[in-house]
Amino acid sequence: MNSNKEPLQSMGEILRVELPAIGVHLSGEQLQLLLRHAGLVLEANRHVNLTRIEHPEEFAVKHIIDSLCCLQAQIPAGPGIDVGTGAGYPGIPLAVAGGFSVTLVDSLAKKVRFLQDVIERMELEGVQAVHGRAEDVGRHDAFREAHRWAVARAVGPLPVLLEYMSPLVAVGGLVLCMKGPGAADERIDRRTMRHELGLAEAKRIYVRLPRCMGERYLMKYEKVAGVKNRYPRKAGVPTRRPL
Ligand code: SAM
Repeated sequence: MNSNKEPLQSMGEILRVELPAIGVHLSGEQLQLLLRHAGLVLEANRHVNLTRIEHPEEFAVKHIIDSLCCLQAQIPAGPGIDVGTGAGYPGIPLAVAGGFSVTLVDSLAKKVRFLQDVIERMELEGVQAVHGRAEDVGRHDAFREAHRWAVARAVGPLPVLLEYMSPLVAVGGLVLCMKGPGAADERIDRRTMRHELGLAEAKRIYVRLPRCMGERYLMKYEKVAGVKNRYPRKAGVPTRRPL
């Protein structure tokens, strides 16, 4: 018995209408994968606190469509990393729709166990879930400057995110922060950003979510030089003493 059948049907209908409207054209198989992930999230949400969003329309727009808006930032081909992925947003939709290899990182073990189960059950090739704090993962040889792009949604203020993300991205790659309407108030010293983290602000893309469900800015940074060896600082320091 699948008690999520009805919510998933209405989500499917919303995605079929709204995704082409933002220029995202998916195959039937890709759409089914996105819905399968949504179903697994809703099912697990009864036991593990993964999301407060359960209404089908809100789920489809705020989790799935919002994640896929990142495609407007022209994510480069190659391996990427989703920092603080939670239930797998935006990383899993990006892997499904964009065909990217994605590493999903989260500091909460129960979320990572859920993601590992999702990856196995959905047979998602090129997707892995890693348990750890961004500050520790960014110091690990297997992950440091090993990705073409990094993305994060709802994980922290801009200076914290950039300290988490820049060490994970190779020079020439992209750092993409998904931010709400307050983005304009979040600042990081430009010199620090350029000379310490090796980042240059490239573009701010304004996105209006369908069905009046909010606005967002995709803050795009280019990794133009190597990050200083001291970043990321020890776990907890980026949030306690933001750059
Ligand atoms: N990105 C997902 C989304 O938008 O639906 C989840 C957002 S949730 C509000 C923030 C997530 O970031 C949580 O799952 C939390 O465990 C994770 N997180 C917070 N700090 C972190 C850190 N330093 N390293 C890795 N994950 C972190």
